[in-house]
Amino acid sequence: MTNNMFFIANWKMFGDIKSVNSIKKVINFSKNKKYKKAQIIYCPPYTLISKLLRLVKNSKIKIGAQNCHYSQTPGPFTGSINTDLIKSCGAKYVIIGHSENRALGDTNNIINLKIKSALKKKLKVIFCIGETLKEKRKKKTNLILSSQIKYGLKNIKKNNNIIFAYEPVWSIGTGIIPKINNLEKQVSDIKKMINKVWKLKKPRIIYGGSVNSNNITELKKISSIKGFLVGGASQNSKNFIDIIKKTIN
Ligand code: PEP
Repeated sequence: MTNNMFFIANWKMFGDIKSVNSIKKVINFSKNKKYKKAQIIYCPPYTLISKLLRLVKNSKIKIGAQNCHYSQTPGPFTGSINTDLIKSCGAKYVIIGHSENRALGDTNNIINLKIKSALKKKLKVIFCIGETLKEKRKKKTNLILSSQIKYGLKNIKKNNNIIFAYEPVWSIGTGIIPKINNLEKQVSDIKKMINKVWKLKKPRIIYGGSVNSNNITELKKISSIKGFLVGGASQNSKNFIDIIKKTIN
């Protein structure tokens, strides 16, 4: 991976076969040399991955999945998709550890298995970490984040194929973002936590949680943040393009 700024669209369980065409605007936009530093990655629902891959074929936009099963081998896991299947359809990234999946039962241990499986298949990982509002109120943020990092990366050798996405759970889908000073300090703490496990000089840390075309002007001031994971605002091409334009100007 290079020194690009990442703009990762997490469509969650939204989008249908027709809405996929709306990304044609983003494909055209991505060809503008002015924005060559923007590394755009779309993570649609599994069912739309192939269609999106065909659309982005002659562009620099990459496609990722939103989750994966932990099993590295095929097996009796009805309704699940593992990294082998993701890789074989042509996607290059996978989101692992999203709080919406942690809430459904993904423990740090399961997340660790998923990351191992993804790296083995040479998929790049968007590794989400974040504290809940309750944890934040109890001043447990650093405790939670450091254990998510420590156990998520357990027995995984240092590598450059992981993007760390800091997503405070209380910010996702709420319209609330952290105060800029607090966020800057939190990213610096996260850097130290990663360093404790891996001694990575420059871990790629991105931010996610209610990013939109209004608050991006504030968020982009934090130079240690190397991109954004965008949920709701990524479903509208114009909004997503505005976020990229305002970040890189
Ligand atoms: C997300 O779910 O990863 C996310 C960042 O969502 P939103 O932008 O809608 O808060």
